[in-house]
Amino acid sequence: MTALVDARHVTKHFRIGRGQTVHAVDDVSLAIAEREIVGLVGESGSGKSTFGKTLVGLHEKTSGEVYFEGERLPQRYRPADFQRYSRRMQMIFQDPYSSLNPRMTVGEIIGEGVRLQGGSNSAAIRSEVDDWLERVGLERVHAARYPHELSGGQRQRVGIARALILKPKFVVCDEPISALDVSVQAQIVRLLGEIKSSMGLTMLFIAHDLSMVRYLSDRMAVMYLGSMVEIGPSEAVYSQPLHPYTQMLVASNPEPDPESERQRATVPIAGEIPSPINVGQGCRFAGRCPHVMDMCRSVTPELRGAAGVEPDRRVACHLYEPATSD
Ligand code: SF4
Repeated sequence: MTALVDARHVTKHFRIGRGQTVHAVDDVSLAIAEREIVGLVGESGSGKSTFGKTLVGLHEKTSGEVYFEGERLPQRYRPADFQRYSRRMQMIFQDPYSSLNPRMTVGEIIGEGVRLQGGSNSAAIRSEVDDWLERVGLERVHAARYPHELSGGQRQRVGIARALILKPKFVVCDEPISALDVSVQAQIVRLLGEIKSSMGLTMLFIAHDLSMVRYLSDRMAVMYLGSMVEIGPSEAVYSQPLHPYTQMLVASNPEPDPESERQRATVPIAGEIPSPINVGQGCRFAGRCPHVMDMCRSVTPELRGAAGVEPDRRVACHLYEPATSD
């Protein structure tokens, strides 16, 4: 399958002075096919959001390349690049409140992108805004309201409409549900699923909640301390996680079904993600891994296929022999 978005060896470091460097994202490659949803999971500090922002040009890449429909995207975006690519790539942000201009009405916020692109007159923009209000489950009267007059779920619906009114092909959803109540989270995920089917969207869906990612995504990718440690079909990764870190994430994830949750012991994740400053050689998970071996502390495991495991799965762990084709 041809990739719509193809990130190759993307690295994003932040220099913070005194010779220190934050390794936010290190050598991450990910190809996303047209109409595919890839869910990206990991604890806070794993680099998921930085990777998503780097894909759409909100962070300059330290190294690596991103291709969109075969075209290599700029290393560093200029204002004209945002104008050029915003019709094709958009981002839905984690905190709907801080990402919406409090001085603009909902109608102005949703229609702003179309206005900036200069493609429609006022009446046409109003009609498109009304259409999108309806598609995201809001009413026309909401167009005259301000963000502070809406609930968290309604604000996130506005954020979704604002991103999708430009009919992008690719959307990065950066933890779009984590600031919302549990009951609203499911509604937003369902809405994204419906829109994905009707628009044929391609998405990178970044989230903490593995159950939501499993429901919405075709594939699930797991990041730890700036590196990708596992990727494969969502159902397979969730039901048979290979990497010890993924196993811990799954074991600590509450089941949405109360009956299944009662029958299962949820195990909190032990320890904390270490500092991403000046990360050295070896497996980054070695300090927390129950299976750590001597070689794990000196040899960095590669993300690759594993012997005896389905060929569409990849894992970065010395516990697995490489697949014969790798
Ligand atoms: Fe654990 Fe070693 Fe695998 Fe890292 S490489 S996850 S430390 S077994």
